[in-house]
Amino acid sequence: MKSSQDLKNLLLSIDHKSYPAYKSAQGSYRFQDYILSIDHVQGDPFAAPSRVSLRISGKNAGFPPKLFDTFPKRVALQDHLLRLFGREIEQYNFKARGSGKSGLMAVSRCGQEILERSACAIDPGDGSLTLRMQIGFPASGRTIQAGELIRILFDFLPGCAQRSLFFRNIDASACQRTAELCEDQEYIRRELKKRSLCAFVANGSVLPRSSGVSEKPMKGAVPFRSPKSLEVSMELPHRGPVSGMGIPRGVTLVVGGGFHGKSTLLKALELGVYNHIAGDGREYVITDSTGVKLRAEDSRSISQTDISLFINHLPGGRDTRHFSTEDASGSTSQAANVIEAAEAGTSLFLIDEDTSATNFMIRDELMQRVVADSEEPITPFISRVRELFEQAGISSIIVAGSSGSYFHPADVVIQMKEYLPYDITARAKKEAAAYPEVAAASSPFHLPDFRRIPKPMGSLRGQERTKIKVLGKEGIQINRSVTDLRYLEQLADPEQLTALAYILNYSVRHLMDGRRTLREIADALERKIDKEGLSALADASYLPADLSRPRRQEIFACLNRCRELSFTFF
Ligand code: ADP
Ligand code: MG
Repeated sequence: MKSSQDLKNLLLSIDHKSYPAYKSAQGSYRFQDYILSIDHVQGDPFAAPSRVSLRISGKNAGFPPKLFDTFPKRVALQDHLLRLFGREIEQYNFKARGSGKSGLMAVSRCGQEILERSACAIDPGDGSLTLRMQIGFPASGRTIQAGELIRILFDFLPGCAQRSLFFRNIDASACQRTAELCEDQEYIRRELKKRSLCAFVANGSVLPRSSGVSEKPMKGAVPFRSPKSLEVSMELPHRGPVSGMGIPRGVTLVVGGGFHGKSTLLKALELGVYNHIAGDGREYVITDSTGVKLRAEDSRSISQTDISLFINHLPGGRDTRHFSTEDASGSTSQAANVIEAAEAGTSLFLIDEDTSATNFMIRDELMQRVVADSEEPITPFISRVRELFEQAGISSIIVAGSSGSYFHPADVVIQMKEYLPYDITARAKKEAAAYPEVAAASSPFHLPDFRRIPKPMGSLRGQERTKIKVLGKEGIQINRSVTDLRYLEQLADPEQLTALAYILNYSVRHLMDGRRTLREIADALERKIDKEGLSALADASYLPADLSRPRRQEIFACLNRCRELSFTFF
């Protein structure tokens, strides 16, 4: 392998040449403490910055195996190191100068959730560490400024790496605390299963965020406190005793006046499928990790989905066992979301009236009297919510402040009052007894057998060069095929959308053979990522630095929303 001196000589030899000469620097070089690889060189100083990675041997990095001996702990350590490294390089960002992106130094920005990212990966076998970053190779105009790149690679980077990626140099107790928090969080996840709970919210948690555009905790918020009747206590391996609200499996209703904190609680539960960093306020808000937020999603596309559980006898005799549309209504979209989440294997639905289609959620008594059941295609969710739990094992947590109908099917009723929860189950049930129950569904409960086979169409296939584009948190684009993902509220990071774009592209090219079902495709994908990491998805010779792993639920959701996949039944 070439040495760092070779790289320096090469850079000096191309100084003041035209920009494309940087391409000759591509390759790997041995530095004192790591191997530096220039994986991809940008085309010009204004293009997306170049990709550089550092590889540190396990022996040299020196992290004790107990810090990364389980998958969640490894992800937590990777996340911790990435944050440390990010803080280091921030000080050098654009210190080297030039045109356009010259001098840029960046790594993935981590938010409040702890996610698996390609930007920092520890090999579970030998403990070696790979850090992937972006550097804007300096130029003035299109003339290479090699001296500036030498400053970045030889003066700035080695120190940043030294101070953040080697166990011997960093705060060992902070690493230890990261691992311990993770073990405590995983402990709660296991307890949820053992105790038949679908979520846990520790007393003292801070649920609201500081503003609509910041995910940081709100200062001066009312800390969470469980009602006594729902309080459960656990002995966490590190933090010790913790108490909080345990939401039992089944049907849970959250009511309360406007602005009393209902949606804030639900939002925290939605993101409780991920672990949160220390100081977030939601460290011990843990939700069944398969939980799916269900909402109306007008105008989404639906392909060959059996929504007959909720919708039947559409005008014109349209088949709802194989329902397809390019432009769904509120109720059909929410019905499809239920069925698709079941297909993805969820055991918890999270629903907020604020974002639901009313006619999908309820149908009141008076309306039932005036418009006969036979004239109403929709069997509302309320008529199926108990069957979903009892026959399919899927619990529901439903925020509904404006209709009392759900008092009947609910097992537990929680009222949010001035941001605190109260258990009002007994009172709500007593009041509800005086009112007629919701009519049971007229057709028997069944879930489809989910043997749907996707087939790529149109611009998804056939191109020699695939163009992949990510539209922030809005959606992804492969060639001309745009998939709208903006309503998948549990996507926590734009890098998850990037990964979904690669997942879609990979499955189109390697897995969708006209025989595999969607489930088989998702299984194969997950096995591959488990085994080979996110890098398994990259077709190109270099791995984009910016992939973050989405859950199985979002993989299904993405493939189901792609307008250029047409589904057939097995
Ligand atoms: P609802 O859904 O019941 O109408 P929201 O959950 O939207 O109410 O909350 C209303 C407002 O109160 C939001 O601005 C939110 O940030 C704030 N809020 C929520 N929980 C708390 C809390 N524990 N302490 C302080 N403010 C809170
Ligand atoms: Mg609300």
